[in-house]
Amino acid sequence: MKTSIRLFDSARNDRVDLTPIEPGTVTLYYCGPTVYNYVHLGNVRPVIVFDVLIRALQASGLKVKAVSNYTDIDDKIIAEAQREGRSEQELSAYYIKAYEDCLAPLHLVPLYAHPKASETIGAMEDFIAKLLDNGFAYRAGNDVFFAVDEVSDYGAISHVKPDENQAGKRIAINEVKHDLRDFALWKLTDDEGIKFDSPFGRGRPGWHTECVTMIKTVFHQPVIDIHGGGFDLKFPHHENERAQSIGYDGTPLANIWMHVGFLTAAKGEKMSKSLGNVVLAKDLLAKHSGNALRLFFYSTHYRSPIAYSDEAIEQAEETATRYIGALHRLQARIQLLDAPYDSETYDQDAFNEALGYLCDDLNIANAVTVLEREVRKALTLLRNPRVTSDQLVASAATLTKLFDLLGIYCEPLMVTAEDRQLYADYQAARAKKDFAASDQLRQALMEKGIL
Ligand SMILES: [Zn+2]
Repeated sequence: MKTSIRLFDSARNDRVDLTPIEPGTVTLYYCGPTVYNYVHLGNVRPVIVFDVLIRALQASGLKVKAVSNYTDIDDKIIAEAQREGRSEQELSAYYIKAYEDCLAPLHLVPLYAHPKASETIGAMEDFIAKLLDNGFAYRAGNDVFFAVDEVSDYGAISHVKPDENQAGKRIAINEVKHDLRDFALWKLTDDEGIKFDSPFGRGRPGWHTECVTMIKTVFHQPVIDIHGGGFDLKFPHHENERAQSIGYDGTPLANIWMHVGFLTAAKGEKMSKSLGNVVLAKDLLAKHSGNALRLFFYSTHYRSPIAYSDEAIEQAEETATRYIGALHRLQARIQLLDAPYDSETYDQDAFNEALGYLCDDLNIANAVTVLEREVRKALTLLRNPRVTSDQLVASAATLTKLFDLLGIYCEPLMVTAEDRQLYADYQAARAKKDFAASDQLRQALMEKGIL
């Protein structure tokens, strides 16, 4: 379906049309985790939001080159590695694997690439050297800093205004920086942590430099269509990425900057270690399905904060079970009737309606209302004694299409020979008006998800 796609761009503070730089292909990057511990549930929200965006773009006929990184060089990783008595490489490899395992139940659309900061060091050195050449960076003390003052529209994404008391002044707390807003591109280090030889000395890059360099390197182009992440990354991380891009090649790095709202604890209080209310993604996904987690996040617009509660997740789990149950029962009936399945018989109006909501700045909650309506229709059909196999097939095809669009995962139900026998016995008992037997068989079929 050809449709216009509108997304909220933080820089323009408005919904804007997505016009891919390369017609037909969308380039998307969202900031991935710093791999030094298990991710908490709030970190997973952007992953799910961008997964739905990828699905919506693909359903609109676009190719998507989506990339998310692993920040595997960071002071936090070094500190944790030392605390645990293992190398940074061991630690980050462990938490990358833990992250991937934890997200498996979400059945995410595979990404084009997952670059690691540690594999992009050479490009970062070249990048910093060019910033120095271009006059956007300076050496001070043992470090290389970015000169924020050189970027006239600094603050373009976050709309953070420079504090007039601080900007442009030499400041006492760090004698070496020219401006409080300046940030380290390369830090000379003599600690125990990982370090690399570079033209600027033996040290390591700053986080803001890692992401911008990975983008330029992995996409082989100066500007991408969409750069995203959590709300907390808008400033200073994304602002500083953009500033470096301006200094490097004069481009703003991305045409659209998308930011995903926070997950808070119940009643909107901040999730934090000190309050003891942090929910780890792995703990939640050990107890609940990926579908439940998705439906929980889908209940609120992606730009708004969402409050976690056990009740909300349990409710989402019930909804997920009802959705999957409806499709399973359709699949079972179709197989019991030996009706040929045709995925192309789906309700195009319903699908386009849901897709239309997603193309309107990812109104996922509205798209879910379309799915809810189609599930109800399916349940009505299943209760109708005069239902035709064509109606069942079309309903199953519609639910399958909508599930795919929204990332709801459903392992297809396959009817066995034993199930067929059970169903035949059930039909026979009903025909004989043997209500005791038919009730018992019906119960057994319901437990199998067939009726
Ligand atoms: Zn980043």
